Amino acid sequence: MNISFSAYQFLIWIWMGLALAVFFLLLRINAPYGRHSSAKWGPTIDNHLAWLLMELPALVVMCFCFIRVIGYSTVIAVLTGLYCLHYINRTVIFPFRIRTRGKRMPVVIMGSAVFFNLVNTFFLGYYFIHFAAYPDNYFQRPASIAGGILFFTGLCINWWADNRLIHLRMPGETGYKIPTSGLFNFISCPNMMGELLEWTGYAIVCWNLPALAFLVWTAANLLPRALAHHRWYQKEFRDYPSGRKAIIPYLL
Ligand code: NDP
Repeated sequence: MNISFSAYQFLIWIWMGLALAVFFLLLRINAPYGRHSSAKWGPTIDNHLAWLLMELPALVVMCFCFIRVIGYSTVIAVLTGLYCLHYINRTVIFPFRIRTRGKRMPVVIMGSAVFFNLVNTFFLGYYFIHFAAYPDNYFQRPASIAGGILFFTGLCINWWADNRLIHLRMPGETGYKIPTSGLFNFISCPNMMGELLEWTGYAIVCWNLPALAFLVWTAANLLPRALAHHRWYQKEFRDYPSGRKAIIPYLL
């Protein structure tokens, strides 16, 4: 399937408009998984399996792109490789580390994440294969270096914070505790802040419309979720630190 660049851009703008609508929807409705789980959302699936299945499309599609471009452009291979790096963790490591025994996720949430991952990764991959033209010295640009630093900083924060949250529970436990130390002293959701920094860095390195769309979708998902988590902590724990913000230290 070949589409013109203008048609492709048009589709992405529509896709970003949809993200805005989802953002406002998620400000009103908490996505019902994890601590916000609800029995009202129809059939459910084991939480670990759901994470694996819903993230797998992103990894598979981008690995395919990586294989397509590897001998053809080192720059594009690195960009697809960075994306795969994130999704290797999210797909085949994270689901096997979380301590969520017996927890389930609504199939509708898993299905919507599959859709989100497929469309976003398809748009990015399509750009890399059909439209991208980066010079060989692309990574020497200051913007590429800054974006790369932001990407890896965000990745490290995301991995560190997810790890810290996972280890708040002993194996077999399923309850919640107040997370402390590092960025948790400033915000409730450093894992989500890290992920937002990561994809902001990625959008800067890639400097293309689909990477921007991916960032917009990530923000549309994570900002409302971090605010919901923060409200939940404040409601559940009377001694929750009062100065702590949701996702941006001192601000939000
Ligand atoms: P959470 O922070 O809600 O949970 C992460 C893990 O830690 C879960 O296993 C959770 O258990 C556990 N946990 C969290 N807080 C506590 C606590 N206070 N005490 C004990 N255990 C806790 O993150 P999400 O599940 O929403 O997301 C996981 C990852 O996926 C994050 O890194 C996030 O950035 C990323 N993500 C990315 C999205 C995107 O659009 N790119 C969208 C959504 C998530 P339990 O499940 O039982 O609550």
